Amino acid sequence: MSSILPPLPPYLVYYPQYGLIACATHQQALYETKILDHVIKFHHNLSLTEADLASYRLLSLATSHHLILEIQPIPPLPTLKLPQNGYQCKLCKSLHLSQRRSRDHLRESHRITGYTAQDAEATICPIQALEGSAYLFRVTEPRLSLPTTLTRKRSRELSLSGSVPSPGQRLKIATLSQLVGPSQPAALSQPTGLSQPTGLSQPTGSPSQPGLASQPGLASQPGPASQLGSLSLPGLAS
Ligand SMILES: [Zn+2]
Ligand SMILES: [Zn+2]
Repeated sequence: MSSILPPLPPYLVYYPQYGLIACATHQQALYETKILDHVIKFHHNLSLTEADLASYRLLSLATSHHLILEIQPIPPLPTLKLPQNGYQCKLCKSLHLSQRRSRDHLRESHRITGYTAQDAEATICPIQALEGSAYLFRVTEPRLSLPTTLTRKRSRELSLSGSVPSPGQRLKIATLSQLVGPSQPAALSQPTGLSQPTGLSQPTGSPSQPGLASQPGLASQPGPASQLGSLSLPGLAS
């Protein structure tokens, strides 16, 4: 039983606990009878054989799904599409990808009418699908790298960009805020009438005024800073 399994192509991932193989490229679990077809048709790989696959303990997708439903929520399967919020019926535990489907289900299966009453019988929870939008199951909450309040505060302070920072950017932002941290409150409290958040958010936006790019310069050198400030006022105000 502990024999070494024949190698799979790198994009195929075997989940022995669920008896399934999923394709990372196509982000879906593969029907156990269609794995070879999939590999040949979509990946033009002719080296995998039926004999290789026979060494793996593979269940039908329906059976794998049943197995998962019994122990859900499970940790998200990284090979599949990212978890998304779905709806679980509190009455029969069935899962639905959209609020519309959830409401349809509550009306048709449980004779509950009215959005408020329907929504009260559904729990929002992260779910994944084994294949397309079929074989839904619940997954555990994705781990949060930072408390949301902290993240929001940081990004507002610095206004580096409007987008949500990736973990890598967060690290950079943390370093930046350590560097420029002490000078920030001073700059923010300048009673010049200049809109500081706007000024801070475009350190690279004015190629003709390289001095603006240096935040410490703004705070520690009043002369050039105020000069720059008055120079840039019309541009910033428009
Ligand atoms: Zn594939
Ligand atoms: Zn139900």
